[in-house]
Amino acid sequence: MNDQLTLFDLAAVDALRRELRLDPQAVRQVRTALLKRGLSDEAALATLPSPMRDEFAGRVTLHALALDRRCDSQLDGATKILFRTAAGMLIESVVLRIATGRTTLCVSSQVGCAAACDFCATGKMGIAQNLSTAEILDQLVQAKQLLEPEGRSIRNLVFMGMGEPFHNEENLYAALAALTAPELFHHPPSRVLGSTVGLPEAMLRCARRFPAVNLALSLHSVRQETRERLIPLAKRRPLAELRRAVVEVNRIQAAGRASGPTVMLEYLMLAGVNDSLAEAGELAAWCAGLNVHVNLIPFNPIEGAPHLTGSSQAVREGFAGVLKRAGLATTIRYSLGADVAAACGQLVQRENRARAIAANAAVRA
Ligand code: SAH
Repeated sequence: MNDQLTLFDLAAVDALRRELRLDPQAVRQVRTALLKRGLSDEAALATLPSPMRDEFAGRVTLHALALDRRCDSQLDGATKILFRTAAGMLIESVVLRIATGRTTLCVSSQVGCAAACDFCATGKMGIAQNLSTAEILDQLVQAKQLLEPEGRSIRNLVFMGMGEPFHNEENLYAALAALTAPELFHHPPSRVLGSTVGLPEAMLRCARRFPAVNLALSLHSVRQETRERLIPLAKRRPLAELRRAVVEVNRIQAAGRASGPTVMLEYLMLAGVNDSLAEAGELAAWCAGLNVHVNLIPFNPIEGAPHLTGSSQAVREGFAGVLKRAGLATTIRYSLGADVAAACGQLVQRENRARAIAANAAVRA
C-alpha cells in the first residue's frame, strides 16, 4: 500500500506515465473523470489504453479510504457516509442536498479531536489522529462518485466534520492546494470553508496562504468563562486574542481577494448557557467593527452531554433579532439529517471509542 502513488501526486504520476509510455492526455483524462466529474473508477480508467490500464491501476491508488456504509436521512436530503481509514478507524462525511441546489459536503480532518468541546461527540472519543492529505481528499472523490448518478456535484466544501482542521495544518494546506489546483479538482477556493475552534496563529497562516478560502470561528460565547466551560481549549486563547485575529484576517482578506472580507462566526444556541438577550447584546458589541457573518446553529443532542439542550425556536429568533437590529449579518441555521446524525453518528463514536480503549489497554498490558 505504502509504495503506491496517489493521483494527487502530479510529479510521481508523471514519472510513472513516462515509464509506461502513456500519452499525457490520457492520464489527464483519468484525473478529470475522477476528480472533476466524479465518474466511477472503471469509467475513469477506461480512458487509458487497455494494455497499460491494469499496470497503472495496480500502481496508483485511486482511494485512500474504504467506503463502509452510507446512511440516508428519511427526513431530508442528508446522507452520512462512513469510511474506514487504513488504520481501521471510522470517519464520517455528510452530504447536504440543500434545496437551492447548493449541495454541500462536510468533511473530516481527524479521527477524534483533542479540543474536547463539551457539546461535541467527536471530542468524547478519547483519541485524536490526523487524516492524511489523501484521506481528506478521498472524502470528496467518493462523495462526487455517489452524487454523479443523481446529476449532482459538490458546490461547497466545509471542514466541519470530525476533528480540528488546524490541529492537522500541514495536511489541510496540502489538501487545500490540491482542491484548488487546475490540474486536480479545480474547486473554487471561495466555495471552501475551514472551521476552527479558535487557533489565532493558524487562522492567520491560513488566511495568508489561502486568502480566498473562507474561515469560520466557532465562537459560541463572548463571555470568557462560559466559553471555557464549553471549549476547554479556550483557556489558552482569550477572546481578545481571537478578536484581534479576526481583525487581522479581515485585513488580509481585504487585500487578497475580490469578494471582500468576511469571517463566519458560529454560535451554538444552548438553552440557559449562552442564549440570553444580554449575551446577544454582548455578542453584537464584540462584533462591532468586524466584517463577520453570524450563524446561529441549532444543537444536535449527543449521548455524552445529557446536561445540554438546544434553545427553542422563539429564543433563537429573539437572539437573532438583537443581532440584526445592531446591523449584523445573521442567519438562523437549521439542522439537516438529525436522524442520521443520531443513528449513524453514534455508531462511529462507539466503535472508535471501543478501539481507542482497546488500544490503550494493549499499551498498558
Ligand atoms: N473543530 C472545528 C470543526 C469541526 S466542528 C470547529 O470547532 O469549528 C464544526 C462545527 O460544529 C463547530 O462550529 C462546532 O462547534 C459544531 N458542533 C459540534 N458539536 C455540535 C453539536 N452537537 N450540535 C451542533 N453543532 C455542533
